[in-house]
Amino acid sequence: MADVTEDLVRSALAKVRTPDGVPLSASPALAGIVVTSGKVYLSINIDEAQARAWESVRGAAEAAARAVPGVTSALVALTAERRPAAARPGPPPAAPGAPAPGRAIEVPGVKSIIAVASGKGGVGKSTLSINLALGLRDLGLKVGLLDADIYGPSVPRLSGVAQKPTLVDGKTMLPLENFGLQLMSIGFLVEEETPMIWRGPMVMSAISQMLREVKWGPLDVLVVDMPPGTGDAQLTMAQQVNLAGAVIVSTPQDLALIDARRGVAMFQRVNVPILGVVENMAYFVCPHCGGRSEIFGHGGARMEAERLGVPFLGDIPLHMRIREMSDAGLPVLVAEPDGAEAGAYRAVAREVKAALERAAGSARKAPRIVIE
Ligand code: ADP
Repeated sequence: MADVTEDLVRSALAKVRTPDGVPLSASPALAGIVVTSGKVYLSINIDEAQARAWESVRGAAEAAARAVPGVTSALVALTAERRPAAARPGPPPAAPGAPAPGRAIEVPGVKSIIAVASGKGGVGKSTLSINLALGLRDLGLKVGLLDADIYGPSVPRLSGVAQKPTLVDGKTMLPLENFGLQLMSIGFLVEEETPMIWRGPMVMSAISQMLREVKWGPLDVLVVDMPPGTGDAQLTMAQQVNLAGAVIVSTPQDLALIDARRGVAMFQRVNVPILGVVENMAYFVCPHCGGRSEIFGHGGARMEAERLGVPFLGDIPLHMRIREMSDAGLPVLVAEPDGAEAGAYRAVAREVKAALERAAGSARKAPRIVIE
């Protein structure tokens, strides 16, 4: 198969016209083309106010890139340099119960979307996301997992899936499946090792494509493994996606808890219910003797959850098997479904399901306004 180069993609884009009538290949809006083993990613930098006019250009650019011989997938994102209104400092928090402004992203086929977030990386957010998804599956729900951690997509590694998604109607991707979960990750489209530099608006654009342009469902729950941190991209996601709730992961160390506090505050500020806090690596279980050591002084996250007035969903031990299994593409809920570690994740899944049902219940109780 021909080697795809950036130049080949660029010349294919000469056939696409921008709203100003200029070939896209010559337009200053064309911000960056990344080609890795047949996968093309490119972004078009536009003025936010003209997003509508550019949407058809985006579609045409994707089709043109995909038509280049050797290209297996193409993802084109519209990016805006101007920070979205949501990300500007200082918008007053909406009144409790007020309709959330700008929840622009609806995901057909999915009943509830929950975000799994952490204030910083490396706390076990992705490992929790997949095991939580599996735990919910075992409670009888139809579950999907979206890897929105586009800085470091880990679902391909955690799920052992590496195929490329297939397209149904030239544009919509079919989610991949393993362990009875529907899966989508930017890692299925771009190599995991590819260094990617994403500016804030590009992050949201890529995530919104993976929400809207994937044929999800029908699903009861879509678990979203969020990018770590509480920057603009995370805030925009929390604000634009109709989230049923957020799960915050923290380790017991003080510093991680400070970050977790920021995560809780971020979701509360945009009226996303906090389903609760999970303490990961809460205590160490010795793989040899089974003895338990509380190396970080266990219980900090539970106390912090109480202090913040949000539910505590449970704690997960720090255990070699969790790391070994998940890094081998076998989440502990699949590898040792009846083990103690799987049990810890299952307990969290039960709490999350109950919290979701409570959240749905209180939404139903909200007064209905009838216009005659
Ligand atoms: P994040 O998504 O927060 O960056 P990951 O889920 O990728 O974190 O976890 C980081 C590393 O820690 C991985 O190698 C993972 O296998 C390991 N890990 C996560 N949770 C546990 C745990 N409870 N016990 C042992 N290792 C864990």
